[in-house]
Amino acid sequence: MKPAQFALDTPQSASEALALLSDHGDSAKVIAGGQSLVPMLNFRLVTPERLIDINGLEDLAYIRENDGVLAIGAMTRQQEIEASPVIAAAAPLLAEATREIAHPSIRNRGTVGGSLLHNDPSAEYPVTLLCLGAEVEVASVRGNRTIPVSDLILPWFSTTLEPDELLLEIRVPVAGESTSQAFEELARRKGDFALAAVAVALTFGASGAIEKAAIAGTAGRCAQRLTEAERALTGEVPTDSVVGAVAAAAETEIQPVGDIHADEDYRRHLVALMTRRALAKAIGDRAGSKED
Ligand SMILES: Cc1cc2nc3c(=O)[nH]c(=O)nc-3n(C[C@H](O)[C@H](O)[C@H](O)COP(=O)(O)OP(=O)(O)OC[C@H]3O[C@@H](n4cnc5c(N)ncnc54)[C@H](O)[C@@H]3O)c2cc1C
Repeated sequence: MKPAQFALDTPQSASEALALLSDHGDSAKVIAGGQSLVPMLNFRLVTPERLIDINGLEDLAYIRENDGVLAIGAMTRQQEIEASPVIAAAAPLLAEATREIAHPSIRNRGTVGGSLLHNDPSAEYPVTLLCLGAEVEVASVRGNRTIPVSDLILPWFSTTLEPDELLLEIRVPVAGESTSQAFEELARRKGDFALAAVAVALTFGASGAIEKAAIAGTAGRCAQRLTEAERALTGEVPTDSVVGAVAAAAETEIQPVGDIHADEDYRRHLVALMTRRALAKAIGDRAGSKED
């Protein structure tokens, strides 16, 4: 199918884009990499009257680290995140998850901002950014505001972004030296959307116990923090039995959705398995780095 007719705006600055969104926000769609929006236009799942193409906003593509905060411009391509040494050091979880997104041709176009805002329940960025405690800065002609990712993402491809708002930047706390992060997902084929995924970020104390545990998972509905699983790990030395208890908690609290790809019970089971695998990886990496 072909998309329904639309007008096309090509602003060259954020202020120009914000003025267009102020005038037309309710009937327009921002287009970034187009890797989700174009298929939706072609299937006429969305029929905006106009598209506001923000590919001219080159100053929204950057990766910077300053004062313990990693700042990523909304227009940064997934491929740039995958290849960035700054991201590899400051948020290894993000680099690892990016390698699981689709295929190189899609990662060359798809942006971190578009992927987060599309908020596909099976996508890699919402669950990893939720785990990392990220926040976003958004703007409109009414002003700027900062939204924690935990308040941004809603079930079923929805977010709390207003129709006249533009996502500018994503901010992630830089991983500390005693932190270990890992991502695990299961997809039917390499590059497919995940049936279930789990991201973990662990902070170890000097005794080897976990001082802080962030665990997020998704299984078809929406990325969610797995707070019972986090509680089961915090303050504990991560023995096999502790990891088993954490995986059991994750399996209980995840809110899966069954569909033609996998039923609810199977997705629940996968979340437990992905939790075990991600924890094994994060704990193993930490043990390896201590031996160096
Ligand atoms: C074959 C295929 C396989 C894929 N597999 C995966 C996968 O395994 N995992 C995965 O996570 N994704 C996958 N994707 C989706 C891909 O990652 C998309 O790139 C991403 O979801 C959207 O990013 P985009 O820049 O292309 O955004 P677009 O498609 O341009 O936009 C997506 C949404 O975000 C809005 N938007 C974009 N930028 C802004 C902004 N700055 N401010 C306000 N609104 C904005 C748009 O209005 C739209 O609603 C796949 C896509 C394809 C075609």
